Amino acid sequence: NQEELNNVILRKRKLAYGVHDVWIKNDLIGRQAKPGQFVIVRISEKGERIPLTIAESNGEAFRIVVKAVGKSTYELCSLNEGDILYDVVGPLGKPSEIKYHGNVLIIGGGVGIAAILPIAKALKSAGNNITVIIGARTIQDLILRDEFTFADKLLPTTDDGSFGYKGNVIDAMKIELEKENYNVIWSIGPAIMMKLSSEIATKYNIPIWVSLNSIMIDGTGMCGGCRTVIKTDNSEKIQYVCVDGPEFDGRYVDWDSFIKRLNQYKEQEKLALERYLK
Ligand code: FAD
Ligand code: NAD
Repeated sequence: NQEELNNVILRKRKLAYGVHDVWIKNDLIGRQAKPGQFVIVRISEKGERIPLTIAESNGEAFRIVVKAVGKSTYELCSLNEGDILYDVVGPLGKPSEIKYHGNVLIIGGGVGIAAILPIAKALKSAGNNITVIIGARTIQDLILRDEFTFADKLLPTTDDGSFGYKGNVIDAMKIELEKENYNVIWSIGPAIMMKLSSEIATKYNIPIWVSLNSIMIDGTGMCGGCRTVIKTDNSEKIQYVCVDGPEFDGRYVDWDSFIKRLNQYKEQEKLALERYLK
């Protein structure tokens, strides 16, 4: 029976333009995954290894939400139910700090909304009062908005005003912080969004967890591809997103060097995608 094979795609559903919701059979990951952790998948023997956040797990399978932005994510999104991934490693990374914090503000931008889903659920179960801001470019891109009904307060935003508050998640965050006191923030989405939300959290002196979407290769701390500078007033240290993260307090991330590293292979990535699409 095909459905019993590890790493087989059990279900695939399109959520938005270029964004797919995929359930993958894997007992080990399905049983052990904790909020905040991720997997590294390889589509074929010669394929690149790509990290993806675990959006949900159920004991036998796990769920990822993937946006096609380059060669490997396009390839992954072209697979169908019944196809088998060449390999899957995980769960990787340190789980999120799930405990009672009090008032928690959780922000998800674009496909980052999928990454905050398990964290928000677990924080709610731990007794926190949770406010969730989810934002996307348009209503069509605002994924999983029906899955956050458990939140104490849900604030959807769209850049074009087609649903919810008209503006980006940063605008909504500023308004919310003027109204309420928060003990901790989670913010996951594009690097620029995580950088801007971290700057605001710094002003308010609130810890903010961000999940860094760095370039990553082996996922075990050996290759150094995901190395990131974490700076406090009196120290500066190199951390590896794969084993020390992926979550860090955004107030201490050296955002300029992080964003620079993220863009270092842009030209090669563009060429690889052009070749793949030909
Ligand atoms: P590449 O060849 O690597 O090229 C990517 C290109 O796309 C680059 O030029 C980059 O600048 C550009 N790009 C990046 N983001 C966007 C965007 N939003 N829109 C347009 N262009 C963009 N991705 C997910 O979709 N879902 C996840 O759950 C997820 N979780 C992650 C968790 C971790 C811990 C990390 C490190 C990354 C995660 N990512 C996630 C990002 C994902 O791993 C990368 O998008 C993927 O590796 C890209 O591989 P590629 O070969 O398709 O593209
Ligand atoms: P996007 O570019 O469509 O942006 C989504 C939302 O983020 C926007 O609607 C807006 O509200 C906000 N935003 C974006 N740029 C902003 C800016 N300059 N100022 C203020 N707000 C801004 O997002 P996308 O294309 O879906 O990309 C999502 C990103 O999330 C990807 O880069 C992906 O790698 C990352 N991601 C990370 C993880 C993780 O665990 N680290 C998981 C999933 C996705």
